[in-house]
Amino acid sequence: HDEEAAAKAAAINADNGAPTIFDKIIAKEIPSTIVYEDDKVLAFKDISPQAPVHVLVIPKFRDGLTQLGKAEQRHGEILGQLLYAARIVAEKEGILDGFRVVINNGPSACQSVYHLHLHVLGGRQMKWPPG
Ligand code: 5GP
Repeated sequence: HDEEAAAKAAAINADNGAPTIFDKIIAKEIPSTIVYEDDKVLAFKDISPQAPVHVLVIPKFRDGLTQLGKAEQRHGEILGQLLYAARIVAEKEGILDGFRVVINNGPSACQSVYHLHLHVLGGRQMKWPPG
């Protein structure tokens, strides 16, 4: 099954603190379509969109945040900035009337890139519960 394969792939790439492809996106060594950027946050279109709008919002400095489960109190400010950036993205993309923010945390949630990221999804009717 596709879902099992995805879960296994995610488990293989489990959190080991290694650099990720997002470092190269932040450094602009590999191209991305940037939707929003400031000194702390970068938002860019997902290469494999799961909705008409699918944007990833990431901290420019990972600072131990390989996944939300590693968050500590000192990360509170950047966590707030990421959530606010998701709202800016939703407005820029014209989906403020209905959008979803998702964080996949760890292998059981099919996290595949271990640099914290928010998925901002919209532009179609979203279903509940998610898969
Ligand atoms: P996760 O599965 O960890 O929650 O989400 C990682 C996301 O990163 C996936 O939706 C995947 O499509 C996206 N992604 C992986 N590599 C790249 C890339 O090189 N460029 C872009 N724009 N997105 C990527």
